[in-house]
Amino acid sequence: MEGDSSNAPTSDVRSFNIFELNASFNKFLRIDEADKQILKFYCHLLLEGDERFAHLFYDYLLAFPATSKILKQYQADTGALDKLVQKQLQHLRTLLSGDTSDASAQVLAHIGQVHHVHNIEPVWLMGAYQLYLDHLKALIKANEAILEADRMTLENAISKFLFRDIGLMLQGYWCAATQQLQAETNKASVLQGQITSLLANIPQILWSIDVKSNQPLYISPVSREVCNMDIEMPIPCMNWTHPDDRGHVRLAWEKALSGQQVEVESRVRDADGEERWFRRVFHPYKDTLGNVVRVDGIMDETTIIKQTIERLNVLATTDSLTGLPNRALLYDRLHQAIAAAKRDDKRQTVLMMMDLDHFKEINDTLGHPAGDEVLRQVATRLGRLLRDSDTLARLGGDEFAVLLPDVLDAKKAAKNIAKSILASFSEPFWFGEHELFLGVGIGIALYPGHGDNVDALMKRADVAMYSAKHKDEAFQFYNPRSDPNTQNRLQLGSELRHALERGELVLHYQPKIDLNTGRIYGVEALIRWNHPEHGLIYPDQFIIHAERCGLISPITNWVIQTALDQCQDWNKQGIDLSVAVNISAPAFQNPNLVDHLHEVLKQNGSCIMAGRFEIEITENILMADIEHGSRVVKQISDLGATVSIDDFGTGYSSLAYLKKLPINSIKVDKSFVLNMADDENDAIIVRSTIDLAHNLGHNVVAEGVENRQTLDMLKELGCDNAQGYYMSRSLPASELTTWLSASLWGMKPGKK
Ligand code: C2E
Ligand code: MG
Ligand code: MG
Repeated sequence: MEGDSSNAPTSDVRSFNIFELNASFNKFLRIDEADKQILKFYCHLLLEGDERFAHLFYDYLLAFPATSKILKQYQADTGALDKLVQKQLQHLRTLLSGDTSDASAQVLAHIGQVHHVHNIEPVWLMGAYQLYLDHLKALIKANEAILEADRMTLENAISKFLFRDIGLMLQGYWCAATQQLQAETNKASVLQGQITSLLANIPQILWSIDVKSNQPLYISPVSREVCNMDIEMPIPCMNWTHPDDRGHVRLAWEKALSGQQVEVESRVRDADGEERWFRRVFHPYKDTLGNVVRVDGIMDETTIIKQTIERLNVLATTDSLTGLPNRALLYDRLHQAIAAAKRDDKRQTVLMMMDLDHFKEINDTLGHPAGDEVLRQVATRLGRLLRDSDTLARLGGDEFAVLLPDVLDAKKAAKNIAKSILASFSEPFWFGEHELFLGVGIGIALYPGHGDNVDALMKRADVAMYSAKHKDEAFQFYNPRSDPNTQNRLQLGSELRHALERGELVLHYQPKIDLNTGRIYGVEALIRWNHPEHGLIYPDQFIIHAERCGLISPITNWVIQTALDQCQDWNKQGIDLSVAVNISAPAFQNPNLVDHLHEVLKQNGSCIMAGRFEIEITENILMADIEHGSRVVKQISDLGATVSIDDFGTGYSSLAYLKKLPINSIKVDKSFVLNMADDENDAIIVRSTIDLAHNLGHNVVAEGVENRQTLDMLKELGCDNAQGYYMSRSLPASELTTWLSASLWGMKPGKK
């Protein structure tokens, strides 16, 4: 078969020494002059019918499936199949010419090379030479012009030249194949070099392990940095892994061996002894039968991710100002405490919520750095009172919470801690040279008594705290009766909406006595709800709810209107009494309050002109927003009403403001007055309050006078006015008129 020798060879045949080989091969085949001569002599006879032979040769090749396929491919690649017959003839002629030159050797090697390029397998070359041989043998046999004596010699010569042809052509073929192999080997080794350096540059440790022999197939060099290349088999870096983590790494390896891809994280002590976090991923590799034969793996460091997650966790669960647990962490611990207590019924849990009094004032007057500093000091101080297993959390603003898990007598534990918290607040806090005294309101909810889940306990501790603050008590346990959220209360809440329209709200009036004259000079209007089923309900039970559900303003308006109507009524009857009404925080903050007062007072001019209408607000309401408070107090006073500060002593007043504001009187809170006859401290507080109020130019009313002794003491201390059960409880308007005429404190002059 003849290839297209014009089709330039891609590899260089001269890479082996063809000249040397040609000479040596010719010698080996014992080609001598006699062979050449006899060929030259009979050449013309041997070429008889050569064209016909060439055509038959190709017909044969085209009829045979394997060779036909090769030729068709050759035609597709070069489009030169028809030229092959001529080339074939040329080749035959050259072969029979007895040429053993180096040039002929080179052409033969090149033809072999072209065959390789066209993917013509050597067996078909051998087959083609067999066809040549058959053809030439038949010619020799049939041609009588060839001498009998020369026939053997001629056949031998032909056979030597045929083998030379085959040998040199296969040599070219082999040479091209070797060169191609070499080129591909070179390419593969370049690629391998690139892959190796790529793997070496990957910061993760990579490996591949033969699981039958437990021998590594590959380990990336970066493992040196982590475990000093000490890759014990079969799990890389196992000896460097933290002993506590080895168990789950082994488990992951077992899973990989069973065919699962697994990920496992563990601590690894590196060559420098530093503990670092690593994630290993095991990828099992299966053979065609589905058996795991190899496990490839990657091991990368997760220390920074771990640390970041830990930091985020701390941030998510810690209050940044005080470093205390935040609300989220408190919820979590409360949840755990309740769960533990549910498992063991001897365990109980206490949740306390605390709100600082007057904290806003510190921020407003001394600035936020002062507020922040005080919060930090509160955190430190409270922290000292607790066990390690307790949780002190800051919920935000000036709100803190204490969780006492696992206590045997929750009520007792809560009381003890509440008392120590209160005692710790008797010491001042400091900001620079400023000495700051703070109050605190504590609400307490207990598990199992007050709720069996986190939300219920949180809500109920909050209700208790609100109630403690509202009643100005230091701490309160949750009491369902004053919880506006309980079903009972909710029911009352919706009924309260209709109470106004149905005329169920009433005012009772409690006399206030002028201590100089011993006579009543005014009354305080106190609201009651005359409930059709529950009877008389006192304000402590429903005012909180009215405040929370937006009913306090209409109720306040009704109170003002009713009290003024009553005042007018008495006036008409010749009863000259001032009437005081209580305004709670949300009503005081309502921007329409002053307008409403203005409207109502216009219609009841006579009462006002005589200074007979009074508004009572607590000092906390006033101080909550001192600027707004002062503005409203002035506006009320401009309308002709008087203003008094209720429950004085339970809050935190700025004396400077009290001095400036148009305040008529200060009402000393009943908690000091009730026991002042027996309690020296209370007596001192009352005396100081009286002195202070007088110095500021204000009148003093003592509320909660329950006995004669207290009344006498107050008179002695120079107190101006008094209110209390000793003189009279609050009474409906009709009963008050009777009381006025019957009582020694009544309007008529008399002796007390
Ligand atoms: P407050 O303004 O300090 O009213 C005085 C409270 O002390 C009244 O309780 C009165 O009955 C009680 N009290 C008077 N003398 C004595 C005494 O000698 N001993 C004792 N133990 N208590 C005495 P009340 O009527 O239950 O009212 C409680 C609070 O409810 C009031 O305290 C006031 O803050 C609020 N309140 C009453 N009426 C209204 C109202 O119409 N609107 C608003 N917003 N709050 C009201
Ligand atoms: Mg009052
Ligand atoms: Mg009061």
